[in-house]
Amino acid sequence: MIENIELEKCTSCGICDDVCPADVIHMEPAPIQAPINGLTRTKLLPVIKFREHCITCFSCEIFCPEQIVDVHPSVKNRPRPW
Ligand code: SF4
Ligand code: SF4
Repeated sequence: MIENIELEKCTSCGICDDVCPADVIHMEPAPIQAPINGLTRTKLLPVIKFREHCITCFSCEIFCPEQIVDVHPSVKNRPRPW
């Protein structure tokens, strides 16, 4: 099951959202520090929205170019072949 995303290193590419077959990860606007002190702006960052739907397929971890997604091998919801 997906455990964590190191958001500090995220480039907002959105690949983890695109490849997730269970719609667990959603890109959402988050406030970040702007280069000028006192100003903020927003950036799209991945949010683990529906962790309980994760089928532990590892796609987000495998395809993240920054290798910052951590999926734990414990399986809770993987569909059974029977
Ligand atoms: S392990 Fe698979 S199902 Fe779970 S969040 Fe990542 S891509 Fe989605
Ligand atoms: S694939 Fe990795 S770098 Fe791209 S949005 Fe997801 S966590 Fe961030």
